[in-house]
Amino acid sequence: MKRRNFIKNASIAGAGIAVANIISSCENKNSKVATRITNTTKIPLVIATWHVKEATAKAWEILEGGGNSLDAVEQGCMVEEANEKGQSVGKGGLPDREGNVTLDACIMNKKGDCGSVVYLQNITHAVSVARKVMEETPHVMLAGEGAKKFAISQGFQSENLLTDASKKAWEEWKVEAKYKPIINIENHDTIGMLAIDKNGDISGACSTSGLAYKMAGRVGDSPIIGSGLFVDNEIGAAVATGLGEEVVKTVGSFLVVELMRQGKSPQKACEEAIRRIVDKPDSDHKNFQVGYIAVNKQGETGSYSIHQWFSMTKYQNGMNEQIQSDYVLKES
Ligand code: ASP
Repeated sequence: MKRRNFIKNASIAGAGIAVANIISSCENKNSKVATRITNTTKIPLVIATWHVKEATAKAWEILEGGGNSLDAVEQGCMVEEANEKGQSVGKGGLPDREGNVTLDACIMNKKGDCGSVVYLQNITHAVSVARKVMEETPHVMLAGEGAKKFAISQGFQSENLLTDASKKAWEEWKVEAKYKPIINIENHDTIGMLAIDKNGDISGACSTSGLAYKMAGRVGDSPIIGSGLFVDNEIGAAVATGLGEEVVKTVGSFLVVELMRQGKSPQKACEEAIRRIVDKPDSDHKNFQVGYIAVNKQGETGSYSIHQWFSMTKYQNGMNEQIQSDYVLKES
């Protein structure tokens, strides 16, 4: 289905903040595609994985003040990166099995440019380093020591990210040293954030310390463009959380955006992407969680997961709310 047809077929629910008609157009090889934002498009808006109202409030503050979606998602994610109580993002993140806190993050803007850092150590704001990779280097991804060196050269401070609480948790884990990713650990895992600004432009970002007690060197889905995050400013965006290996195997976020391009709502697209995981032969999905959230150009949103208790935080029409996600395993 052509992009133009997607726009025609997309349903627009309810009335929202009125914006002037904006037409963004772009040339592709064969056709000129016009994406219309109508006066029922509910923008600006921001959504994020899990219960992160302070993070969405920060992003909303930027959007409401007329700021752009890229600044909104970066600064929104930074709130959780700095929150030491969150043990799965930034400072205070749970370490790998050798006791090292290693961060993965990425960011994508309205032009489809992206930056990412993998296995970054000692720098709290991995999402901001990812943005610098996008804006200040000819590359998309920097890893490990090179990523850290680059961050320092950009003025980031090196610090110890292993807090007393996370060190204690790791020492307790070492007694049995059993690796078993836990479904829905504490109140959130990866923070993934998607925003549409007043101009109708979409950006996304995500940041994580990855799975607790992973093997040294392990990298998840979050810094992999198309897996942990994907943004197409003509169509929409998606971001993932949960067992990264399963998201990578299905190129999950890219899949969600492509399904929206084919005419699916964000909700239906998230459902189909989760189904691709659970319908695999011999799928072990009863023992792991994956969740997606998505937004389309019209400001419609969706979320879906394998297990219960995944949630999305949404700030739209001046309301910051946590929305429980629908899920596959109703009996669990
Ligand atoms: N997706 C992240 C990873 O696999 C972790 C998470 O969201 O729980 O690294």
